[in-house]
Amino acid sequence: MTSPLIEALTSALGDEQIIVAPKEIESALRDNSWLSPLLAQHIRELKTTTGKTLQVDAVVIPNSIEQLKRVIALAVRHNVPMLVRGGGTSNFGQTIPLHGGIIIDIRRLTGIIDIGNDRITVAAGTIQGDVDAAARARGLELPILTTTYASATAAGWVAGGHVGLGANTYGTIWDGNILGVKLLTAEDPPREITLTGDDVLPVLHTYGTTGVIIEVTFRLVPAHRWVEAVGVFDDFSSAVRFTAALADQDDIHQRVVAAQDAAISRGFTPLRDLFAEGQSLVLMIVDAERVGRCRELTVQHGGRFVPWKTPEDADRISIGLMVYGHRMLWIKKLTPQSAFLHVYFSPDRYAEQLQALANAFGSGLWLEFKYIRSRWLRALRGLQGDGNLPAAVLTLVPGDGDTLHALMDFCKQIGVSYQNPHTFLLEESGLFPDFAPILSFKRRVDPKNLLNPGKIGQGVRA
Ligand SMILES: Cc1cc2nc3c(=O)[nH]c(=O)nc-3n(C[C@H](O)[C@H](O)[C@H](O)COP(=O)(O)OP(=O)(O)OC[C@H]3O[C@@H](n4cnc5c(N)ncnc54)[C@H](O)[C@@H]3O)c2cc1C
Repeated sequence: MTSPLIEALTSALGDEQIIVAPKEIESALRDNSWLSPLLAQHIRELKTTTGKTLQVDAVVIPNSIEQLKRVIALAVRHNVPMLVRGGGTSNFGQTIPLHGGIIIDIRRLTGIIDIGNDRITVAAGTIQGDVDAAARARGLELPILTTTYASATAAGWVAGGHVGLGANTYGTIWDGNILGVKLLTAEDPPREITLTGDDVLPVLHTYGTTGVIIEVTFRLVPAHRWVEAVGVFDDFSSAVRFTAALADQDDIHQRVVAAQDAAISRGFTPLRDLFAEGQSLVLMIVDAERVGRCRELTVQHGGRFVPWKTPEDADRISIGLMVYGHRMLWIKKLTPQSAFLHVYFSPDRYAEQLQALANAFGSGLWLEFKYIRSRWLRALRGLQGDGNLPAAVLTLVPGDGDTLHALMDFCKQIGVSYQNPHTFLLEESGLFPDFAPILSFKRRVDPKNLLNPGKIGQGVRA
């Protein structure tokens, strides 16, 4: 049955841009929340009660900002919820509508708007890999790149992601890497608001609840020639000590340095010829100019340094597709029953905390260890200033609601903080020190609470 909003949208934009076929709506509901057993179960239950299309009436695909403004104005006039969708690659349920309405696909709003020596401004739907390629053509690069850069959009990363390749040198979205955003309010008619500096903070990682982003300005840094290598260690403790030693080398630019215990290492099938059963790996992407020093440090810590890929080796899969979020895909292939928890250790007690976790959960917990250089994440742990924070995405095997809650409780007991990826509700994510500025900004830009409702303020718990 056609709703008054769909009729109004169809007469404003035409048929081709309004998708109402249930099968196509279902495809637009696909995301990566299957990585969390709790979110996956919640979505299954939601579909049982509301139907496979989650009460979404249509997917709307604007071709221009003017069309996007008309779509927003009409949805506001009809009091219908809106969820803006980019590549749909996010994994915390960000693109799952909890209250039906319309999905607005922004992938046709693309293009480089401006590029200078230290910044690039792009349209919201521009693929992040294309943004980086445009910067590279000028000898510059994005400081941080989500590992889903081939299909994730600029606005989708800003509103749904937070880290990625480069985070151990340059931090997160909250660490000065997003210089500006332009957004539309959920009003009839929508207003355009431009935010710069710290004013962008209420828009970052807020799942599109605080405005519809139409432009993003990213910081750019001089491009590096990145080379990829694997450190092979007989035991995980040596791999951790090496990772910590490399993190102390401020003069070595690093895109990723991540120690994986032997259980996880087995999962990286393209690397299987490089190591023996029981050995632990450190996956590295480092500045080519300092690769000699990385090799020295690997050997000093009892490891073997194996070069893997230069930018010219097109035949080899990149280590960038085995770390951060992508690491979970390799583990899921090994053991589909796994679940993940993002944790942050004390800089002076990480070895003890890792040992406590290993003692408590034994072979049911697979460990990794890396650093993120983030003032924002450090502040969440009560640490002042810039600097590194030891972090990990822990893997529980098997991972279900009970084991996850036991792990979270244990982390609290031993002073390990965590980011909870198993909830729809931003307040439960553990990534924000204070929600007051976000909620007050939201009231300004979305007075009717129509943008992705249920994710902030009074959301639904998984
Ligand atoms: C295998 C794998 C690896 C990953 N690796 C990383 C990683 O390294 N780093 C990382 O940070 N994340 C990672 N992710 C999560 C995700 O891929 C990224 O955050 C990605 O940047 C999201 O972009 P997207 O275009 O797919 O956004 P979507 O998934 O489409 O949307 C994400 C959120 O942004 C909102 N949104 C989208 N467009 C707009 C807009 N124009 N205005 C307002 N809100 C908007 C959506 O409503 C949603 O809430 C990974 C996920 C997977 C499955």
